[in-house]
Amino acid sequence: MLTSFGVTEGIVVDTHVSRVSQRLGLTEHKKPEDIEKDLMAALPKNRWEPFSLMMIRHGRYVCTARHPKCVACVLNRICPSAFKFT
Ligand code: SF4
Repeated sequence: MLTSFGVTEGIVVDTHVSRVSQRLGLTEHKKPEDIEKDLMAALPKNRWEPFSLMMIRHGRYVCTARHPKCVACVLNRICPSAFKFT
C-alpha cells in the first residue's frame, strides 16, 4: 500500500500479507511484487488500503506463522489451508 496525499497506488505485501494471501489461495507467487499484482487485480482500488490493514492484523493475531488459529478464524470455511497447520 503506497499512500501519499490520500492517493493509494499499491498494496503493501509484508510478511503477514504474503503468508495469509498464499494460505487463502489468493496467490501462488512468492515474491512480494508478484503477490501485489495478484491482489491488485482481485480487488477494486478503493479496497487496497483497508485490505492491507486487515490482512496485516489477521496475520498478526489469527493466521500467525507457526500456529494459525484456524478454529477461531472467520475464514476457516473458505480457506484452502484451514487446519493444515495443526
Ligand atoms: S483458516 Fe487458518 S490458515 Fe486459513 S486464514 Fe484462517 S487461520 Fe489462516
